[in-house]
Amino acid sequence: MDFALNEEQQALQKLAREFTAKEITPVAAHWDERGEVPMELIKKMHETGLMNIQIPEKYGGGGLGYLESCLVGEELAYGCTGISTTPMAHSLAITPILLAGTEEQKQKMLKPICEEFGLAAFCLTEPGAGSDAGAVATTARLDGDHYVINGTKCFITNGSLARLYTVFASEDRTKGLKGLSAFLVPAGPGVKAGKEEKKLGQRASNTTEVVFDDVRIPRANLIGKSGEGFKIAMMTLDNARAACAAAATGLSRRALDEAVRYSNERVQFGQPISAQQAIQFILADMAMKVETSRLMYLQAAWMTDQKMKQTVQSAMAKCLCADTAMDVSTMAIQVFGGYGYMKDYPVEKLMRDAKLMQIYEGTNQIQRVVIGRGLTAAASRSKG
Ligand SMILES: Cc1cc2nc3c(=O)[nH]c(=O)nc-3n(C[C@H](O)[C@H](O)[C@H](O)COP(=O)(O)OP(=O)(O)OC[C@H]3O[C@@H](n4cnc5c(N)ncnc54)[C@H](O)[C@@H]3O)c2cc1C
Repeated sequence: MDFALNEEQQALQKLAREFTAKEITPVAAHWDERGEVPMELIKKMHETGLMNIQIPEKYGGGGLGYLESCLVGEELAYGCTGISTTPMAHSLAITPILLAGTEEQKQKMLKPICEEFGLAAFCLTEPGAGSDAGAVATTARLDGDHYVINGTKCFITNGSLARLYTVFASEDRTKGLKGLSAFLVPAGPGVKAGKEEKKLGQRASNTTEVVFDDVRIPRANLIGKSGEGFKIAMMTLDNARAACAAAATGLSRRALDEAVRYSNERVQFGQPISAQQAIQFILADMAMKVETSRLMYLQAAWMTDQKMKQTVQSAMAKCLCADTAMDVSTMAIQVFGGYGYMKDYPVEKLMRDAKLMQIYEGTNQIQRVVIGRGLTAAASRSKG
């Protein structure tokens, strides 16, 4: 077993780390305060080669794996998970095309996004369909050579910025999960961003309703087969959860670094607070959690690249890394004392940003459901 990154991975990690230090960290508080996506910065990220990493080169992408994409994600998130959520959600949205799209769909939809600049949005959640994806009420009706899409999605990252939407809609609501299909919907007539959410954290990301009002798309925009929507959504999340875990790890590492630095600077009782064993123990716990997180997301991403079944490992990585980010960012505030509670220091933002990690891409309760089902299904198989 080899724990070392290869030269190409190290170079990519260095590129992302330098980009973050120069372009993201210095402006993170500003964009958090404004609650806006810094689009010029996202474009720069694209031009620097830090987006679309896992898309094959023939469609204009980086031609690398999920592991490389996650390494970059950890670095960007170190600077600001609000900002890094934009490329992460974009990556989530293009995954159904990579997993189940036709050659023609990949050429037509991925190439322009990679060669020019464009964002995609993943549209699964609805007001009545959060954890229960089978309750999707958006409909897709076949009309000759077209589908007509109607419905409202909510909490969609990149909702008002995307040029391409991957949309999960029901062709037959009586069939529940088996009635769902996945579609490619370009921005255009009938596609409107609705309410923009004002959020607790990750405020430099864009979260909106997306309304589909009699949107006509060619039949060729169906991803996979009719009725495969739920399967495609779940496969997409299995792949993408490592990225969420990597982002959570970047946030946790930032919280640790800030806590170490502050504890060496802050003097109480005539010495830096880092001289107190109580503080050292907090830092030690934080460091163990950061290292564990990284191992978990690397394993899940590696399994994805090896085309191994990784449902349980992805759910474990997402759940553990998100819980860790919440935990470690709270510990960082404790190390800062009262100053940690103030907006003049970066750690209160880390805690606000971390909370979302436990909610999106499936709540951490749902991850535990996935893990539990995986364990009990494996146990019942071994009995047979
Ligand atoms: C900022 C933000 C960005 C997002 N971006 C996107 C996006 O780009 N695309 C997209 O499609 N969605 C997106 N989401 C939606 C997100 O995935 C959902 O919010 C999430 O899946 C939970 O759904 P819900 O909010 O309806 O909560 P609910 O499903 O109503 O859950 C409420 C509570 O009940 C618990 N719960 C529900 N069912 C169960 C169960 N069976 N077992 C145990 N506990 C359960 C949940 O864990 C939670 O604690 C985003 C959400 C946010 C907040």
